[in-house]
Amino acid sequence: MDLSPGLEEKIRVCNSTYTVRFGVRLRGAIHTFTGYRSVHSEHMEPVKGGIRYAMGVHQDEVEALAALMTYKCSLVEVPFGGSKGGLRIDPREWNEHELELITRRFAYELAKRDLINPSQNVPAPDMGTGEREMAWIADQYRRMNTTDINASACVTGKPLNAGGIAGRVEATGRGIQYALREFFRHPEDVKRANLSGSLDGKRIIVQGLGNVGYHAAKFLSEEDGAKIIAVIERDGAVMNPDGLPIEFLRTHIGATGGVKDFPEGTYVPDGAAVLEAECDILIPAAMESVINLTNADRISAPLIIEAANGPITAGGDDILRQKGTVIIPDLYANAGGVTVSYFEWVKNLSHIRFGRMQRRQEEAQHALLVDELDRLLKEATGDKFGFTERFKAEYLHGAGELELVRSGLDDTMRTAYQSMREVWHGRKEVEDLRVAAYLVSIERVAASYRSKGL
Ligand code: GLU
Repeated sequence: MDLSPGLEEKIRVCNSTYTVRFGVRLRGAIHTFTGYRSVHSEHMEPVKGGIRYAMGVHQDEVEALAALMTYKCSLVEVPFGGSKGGLRIDPREWNEHELELITRRFAYELAKRDLINPSQNVPAPDMGTGEREMAWIADQYRRMNTTDINASACVTGKPLNAGGIAGRVEATGRGIQYALREFFRHPEDVKRANLSGSLDGKRIIVQGLGNVGYHAAKFLSEEDGAKIIAVIERDGAVMNPDGLPIEFLRTHIGATGGVKDFPEGTYVPDGAAVLEAECDILIPAAMESVINLTNADRISAPLIIEAANGPITAGGDDILRQKGTVIIPDLYANAGGVTVSYFEWVKNLSHIRFGRMQRRQEEAQHALLVDELDRLLKEATGDKFGFTERFKAEYLHGAGELELVRSGLDDTMRTAYQSMREVWHGRKEVEDLRVAAYLVSIERVAASYRSKGL
């Protein structure tokens, strides 16, 4: 790239990292927790990125993840800088009430320093956090800023009834599906991965059936005809060459804590070995660095889509590239989450349901249909069954918005793929999609700094 060394350095470094250690009185004693919020680049504000709850959280990790947010947002043209937060905690060790106290206190510490703020820094869910934590954070911010009319835009990934948007929970997994669909629309690209045809019948291995892995696996198997032949979890892996029923497996994991004893598959205690098993597509959707110098040469999948952030180390990436493995990189592949976060933020700031202006007419037609169904149901059951007004309202609210969110996400994933692809095919020194993605992304960040006169 034609970047001056100074600008290159400015873009590379993480602008700031705030470390906080706070105490919370729990179970009769004071417990001290360590949390971070890093801001990588403020070329656009607010800066954006999730908050992770995990014991492995540390400053380097949070800073690297914040940088990834900068490049991710730029690639999918979501107008945010990059940030990330983390709290060193094992969420499974604490009950809900305790987690609320801890989360509120962490949110207080960050909001006090404008590290949670609708116009400056907008967190979201990440590993170990979800809608529940986001609702606590939003409420905490609101209590501290009672006159801020945009308070609900201080965090995204909130529940629908607390200012959230339809389709945010599924968004990252949905983005994986849209990314793969777009990839398979280009036979030339599919051929580079030594594959052919469509997603239909493709054998997929998923590592991690958390929010991202679960939704990706569910949509790809239920809607695209792909077969999830193995799922790797904490306690090992479960395999089924005919495809695993994902909904059932998720329920089993929820009930038993793991994949062991799942009746519709074969249990393999060594999950790491299954990561190397033969398949068409590998979806690492758990931790970073799971594919590295120690195992990259044994990975059989010809196509890997990085649903997690940073699942392949730089060393691992070198080996895979030499082998000819095609990697759809994280900054593109898992950008569905932040894309829908952007829709949620816009919805909160506009104080109107997402897309309401455009949708009014369609919705009126939809409402007529629901009323008609309600009438038929009542008629057939002698008034025994029908829709409540509340159900009708929620249905219409959800339906209109969800459709719009999905189509907006699809459009975003397709456009970003094209921009990456142009560089991948157009510049002969660019061998892989990751370099292509970084070139597109960093060029935009650089342009933004230049236009500021830096
Ligand atoms: N934590 C997600 C990510 O890594 C979502 C971030 C957001 O929505 O701001 O992309």
